[in-house]
Amino acid sequence: MRTADVRRRYLDYFVRQGHVEVPSASLVSHDPNLLFVVAGMVPMVPYFTGVEPVPWKRAVSCQKVIRTLDIEEVGKTTRHGTFFQMLGNFSFGDYFKAEVIPWTWEFLTGPVEQGNLGFDPERISVSVLGAGFHPAYPDGDLEAREIWRSIGLPEDRIHGRDLTENYWHMGVPGPGGPDSEVFYDRGPEFGPAGGPDVNEERYLEIWNNVFQQEELSAVRSKSDFDVARPLPTKNIDTGAGLERIATLLQGVDNLYEIDEVRPVLDRAAAVAGKTYGRGATDPSARDDDVRLRVVADHVRSGLMLISDGVTPGNEGGGYVLRRLLRRVVRSMRLLGVDEPTFGELFPVSRDAMKQSYPELETDWDRISEVAYGEEEAFLRTLTAGTQIFDLAVRDAKRAQQASLSGDRAFQLHDTYGFPIDLTLEMAGEQGLAVDEAGFRSLMAEQRARAKADAKAKKSTAGASEVYRQLREVGETPFTGFRTLSGQSAVRG
Ligand code: ATP
Ligand code: MG
Ligand code: MG
Ligand code: MG
Repeated sequence: MRTADVRRRYLDYFVRQGHVEVPSASLVSHDPNLLFVVAGMVPMVPYFTGVEPVPWKRAVSCQKVIRTLDIEEVGKTTRHGTFFQMLGNFSFGDYFKAEVIPWTWEFLTGPVEQGNLGFDPERISVSVLGAGFHPAYPDGDLEAREIWRSIGLPEDRIHGRDLTENYWHMGVPGPGGPDSEVFYDRGPEFGPAGGPDVNEERYLEIWNNVFQQEELSAVRSKSDFDVARPLPTKNIDTGAGLERIATLLQGVDNLYEIDEVRPVLDRAAAVAGKTYGRGATDPSARDDDVRLRVVADHVRSGLMLISDGVTPGNEGGGYVLRRLLRRVVRSMRLLGVDEPTFGELFPVSRDAMKQSYPELETDWDRISEVAYGEEEAFLRTLTAGTQIFDLAVRDAKRAQQASLSGDRAFQLHDTYGFPIDLTLEMAGEQGLAVDEAGFRSLMAEQRARAKADAKAKKSTAGASEVYRQLREVGETPFTGFRTLSGQSAVRG
C-alpha cells in the first residue's frame, strides 16, 4: 500500500466517524516558541487552551512535521525522519477514550476491503499510564486499560509505563493527561522480545492517543506536576506516524525504504556508483548505507521546507534548512561524488511526494532554484576550503596533535567561509577535535576590530565588506539542531 493511500484511508476513516478533514498547516510554526511544527496537535493548541473558539467538535488531519531533535538518529535507527507526516484525529470536548480506542483498533486491524489497514492483531501491544507514578493516578489509567482489555487485548500486551512515557502536558500549566501508545512487534529479526521497554526498534511505536482530561496548576518537569482539577471538557489528541505505518505495510526494514523516500536513496546510490544494503552483511559498507539514508531523508525535508517558503539562511529556520542541505552535499561527497547532485535528487523526491502535495509541481521553478542555488554556493565554499582543511589535518596528524588549532579553524572560517560546525564535523570524521575556545576568542577579536574599523571609516566599502562576510558565513553555533528543535509539544 502506497504511503499516500494509507494517508487517504486514515482521513476517510475518521471522516466516516464524523470528523472534518483539515489540511496540514505549514511546517513553519505560528507559535513563537517553536521554529517548526513538531506534532499534529501544534496547530490545534489555541483550541485546546481555549485561546480561540473551536471551529469543529471533531477534526482529522495529516500534518507535515519537522523534528530536528531526531537528526542524529536519521539513517541509524530504522524509524526516525527529520520530516514526517503525523496523522491526527482530534476531539474538542466531544468523544473520549471509549470511542477513540475502539476506532484506533478497528482502523489498524480491521479488514482492508472495508478501508482499514489489516494489521495482525496478535502483533499489537499497547501502553497505558502504569500504577504508582503519580498521586492523582495511584492505580494508573485503569479506564484506558479496561477498554483495551474489553477489546480483547491480553493483559501481557498492555504495558503500564511511567510518566515520561505515558503522560502528556505542554511544560506549562494548562491541559494535561495520560496517553496510550500502540506498538507493532516486527519480530525477532529486530532483536530480543520483551516489549517497548526493552526494544523500541522491534516494538515499533506507531500511534499515540492522548487523553487531555485535567488541568495542571504547576509543571516542574516532564514527570513532576500538580493536577488541579478535571477539565470541564475533555479532549483527544492523536499522533500516528504515517511513515512508520507505511514501513510495516510495505514490508521494508526502515522508513527510508518506503515509496516516498526510497527512490531518492536509489538515485543517490546510482549517482555514487554504490549498492545500497551491503552494510547488512559487510560492516565496512555500513557508513555508506547510513549516508544514503541521510541523503534520502534530508532531501525530502529540504524539499518540503522550501515548499513551505523557508529559504536557507544563517538564523532560525533558514539555518536548519541550510544545515540539512549541506549535510546532503557532504554525505554525497563522502560517498565519492564531488559534482552537484541536487538536480538529480530533488526531482525524484518531488515525484515521490507530489501525489499528496501537488504544490511541489506547481511551485517547482521556485523550489528548485532555491535548492540548486544553495548547493552551488556551498560547493564553491567546500572546494576552496577542503584543501586548506586537508592540509590542517595532515599537519595536526604529523605533529601527533589530537585537535585542530583555533587558528586554523578561524582561517577556514574567515578566508574560506567554513562555518565552525562544518569544521567540527569534518574534524570529527578524521578523529580530531577542534580548539573551539581558541576559535571563539579569535572571532571575538575580529568582531572588536570590525567594530573599531566601522567606527573609524563609517560606511566605507572595506567595513561593509567585513560585515557582508560575517553575515554570509554565519556565526550560529553548532548547537543549532539541538536548541532550535523546540520539543515542548512532543509526547514521550
Ligand atoms: P519515538 O519514541 O519513536 O522517538 P515519539 O514518542 O517521540 O517516538 P510522539 O511524539 O509520540 O513520538 O509522536 C507520535 C508518533 O509520531 C509516534 O508514535 C511515531 O509513530 C511518529 N514519530 C515520532 N517521531 C518520528 C520521527 N522522527 N520520524 C517518523 N515518525 C515519527
Ligand atoms: Mg510517543
Ligand atoms: Mg516514544
Ligand atoms: Mg522521539
